[in-house]
Formats: sequence, structure tokens, C-alpha cells
Amino acid sequence: MPRVNSNYAKLQAGYLFPEIGRRTAAYKAAHPEADIIRMGIGDVVLPLPQAICEAMEKAVREMGTPEGFRGYGPEQGYPFLREAIAAEFALRGAKISPDEVFVSDGSKCDTGNFQELFGADAKIAVTDPVYPVYVDTNVMAGRTGKCSNGSYEGLVYLPTTAENGFAPELPEEKVDVVYLCSPNNPTGAVMTREQLEKWVAWARANDVVILFDAAYEAFIRDPALPHSIFEIEGARDVAVEFRSFSKHAGFTGVRCGYVVVPKESPFHAMWNRRHCTKFNGVSYPVQRGAEAVFSPEGRRQCQANVDYYMANADLVRRTLGGLGVKVHGGENGPYIWMETPNGESSWDFFDRLLTRANVVGTPGAGFGACGEGYFRLSAFALRENVERALERIARVL
Ligand SMILES: *Cc1c(COP(=O)(O)O)cnc(C)c1O
Repeated sequence: MPRVNSNYAKLQAGYLFPEIGRRTAAYKAAHPEADIIRMGIGDVVLPLPQAICEAMEKAVREMGTPEGFRGYGPEQGYPFLREAIAAEFALRGAKISPDEVFVSDGSKCDTGNFQELFGADAKIAVTDPVYPVYVDTNVMAGRTGKCSNGSYEGLVYLPTTAENGFAPELPEEKVDVVYLCSPNNPTGAVMTREQLEKWVAWARANDVVILFDAAYEAFIRDPALPHSIFEIEGARDVAVEFRSFSKHAGFTGVRCGYVVVPKESPFHAMWNRRHCTKFNGVSYPVQRGAEAVFSPEGRRQCQANVDYYMANADLVRRTLGGLGVKVHGGENGPYIWMETPNGESSWDFFDRLLTRANVVGTPGAGFGACGEGYFRLSAFALRENVERALERIARVL
């Protein structure tokens, strides 16, 4: 056996979703006739908007001509896409220049890779519950000790529960990095302008970098809520923002996202260096597809998909709420964060829902210790499946 990175041994048995997959597959093997409805993994189900398909198709044809062929593109992304993205930020008053945008194959990689720029002893804060990628990549990098009861030694956890309205408190101890996700996966909570202002002021005063994950910004419906941390004065020195085409444009299988790193940030040059060394650019047809997301047709079609998913979210919130379940989120984000009935453990509720209702959701404990007692339902499903799932859930509450 070669010498291995022993930090991997600290990782908990499985990444959450493989464990859900394992339990679901085991049940399916024992009950091949079961008609399982998945409201677990946050994967989209509606087909890719036509404006995007057309743009990609045209780009593929171009590549097959002597004039249109392209080899390696710029690692950071083609100017046409970086300009379209910067223009999108400008619509909401956030000043971003195209060369501050780094196009990638998605935000999972970006949010996972960004920690490479921090020192081995950087103190990391995350919310609890949390998108597991932020935590696991820091574990792999050796910034934590062992895991016990769902929490790693060395990480600073900021609880977000019904008691604090799912709004994390500022850390009391000195930290170097904090990951914030708004609209939040898994809780569905969205940070207000005042809350973001508080975080930015604190980061400036305490020399902290905020890694802001805005993968779900397109699902915000309340016009008063900020979509980007760069809508907040002073954020350019202290924040980095991650965005993805995955959820609102249906790109989970196409793959495209981006990071915005302002030039004021010490991480701008570093991220550029890292990106150019370890990444060789997103394919030309995919970048043309992403560009089409910002065309008038593309916007309309993506918005129609977002509206469809958010109508699912409304249906889940109203139906479960009407049955006496305590439901959170689902108003400005595609996740409903429900409290399990009678304080049942979240994995017990998962198993009961799987075996009695043949519905798969995501147990809150998989997102962190403070997720215990909660359960995540995703609005990314076909309407008829949401309706059928709700009928079945109602029977086992
Ligand atoms: C889905 C998701 C992303 C985006 O992932 P991609 O790799 O771009 O598909 C990023 N952050 C969070 C919190 C997510 O749920």
C-alpha cells in the first residue's frame, strides 16, 4: 500500500447521497415492484430549455467547419460568456468586471477546490446544517480532527435551526473563512440585505473571507432579497461568490458554473493561477449554451422552469403545513425543510418514508448535527410525482 492521505480516513462512512442511494437500492432489490418517488437529491427533471439546445447545436456545427473550429479556449472562459455574466450582475447594481468571472464545470468543484488557496491552519466556519462539500473538502485537506456525533474537531459550526430562524450568528472565536449559502441548501432560508451587511462588516473588521454560494439565487421571489453578496457595499474586498447554471437552467448534466473573485481580493491572482494550472476550460458548445441563458428567449424559458419548481414548493408547503407539519423554506428556494413528526430521528423518518410510502427524501442529520429532527424535500420533481408523494406522505405522518 503506498502512503495515502490519511485525512480521507476521517471522512464519515459515506457522502450523504451515496448512503441514500445504497438504502434505496437495497429496498428496491428486495421489492422490485415498488414505485419509488424521489424527492431527495437536488437534481432537476425538466428538459433543457430549447433556446439553450439550439445555441449548443449551432456551436457544435460551427466546430465542424474550418472557420468555426476551436481548440483550447481561455481557461477562464470565453469573453462572450464572461461579459454576459458581468452584465447580469450589473442589472442588480453589483459591479463585476468580466475578468473577475472564472467559468468552470460547476459549483461543486469550485466550492470544493477554493479551500486550496488557504493555509493548512486556516480556521474554517460553516453553518450547521451545511452543504457537505464545504466540510468534506476541508477534511480531505487536513484542516480538521476526527468526527464525532456528526461534527469534526477543528471546524467552527454555526447552528441554524428553527430557534434562530435559520440565520447563523457571527462566530465568537477568530476564524479565517466562512462558507455561507443563500438561498440555503438544505434549509431553504434566504439571507436578508441587513443580515448580509452584518456579515460583510464583520468580515472586514476581522479579516475574514466569505465564500458565498449563490447556486439558488434565481429562485428568489421576494424582490427585497439580495441575489449576490456583491450587492452589499464593501463586499468586494472580503467575498468570493459561486454560481451555477445547474439548477435554474437545467445544467446538472451539461455542467457549467462560475466563481466571481474581485480584483481587490488577494485570492484573485491565486485563483487565476490555480484555475489555469488545473483546469483547461469549459467546452465551447456548453459556454454558448450558458450564454443563451441570458438571451430573452433563454430567460423566459429558464424562468418558466423555475416557476414550475416553485409551484411544487408551494404545493408541498401548503399541503404539509395543512397537515400540521412544521415546514420551513420553499418560498425563495427549491427546498422544503420539514420538522420530522413527533421528533422522530431523521434517518428513522427516511427509512419509514422509503419503506411505507416509497418516497425518498433527505434526512437532515446528513447535513450536520443540527439537521437532526429535520427532513429535506426537494421541489425538483414532476408535478404528478409531487402530488402522489404528498398523498403517500400524508398517510404515514
Ligand atoms: C447544486 C448545488 C451547487 C451546484 O452544483 P454544480 O456542481 O454546479 O452542479 C452548488 N452549491 C450548492 C449548495 C448546491 O446545492
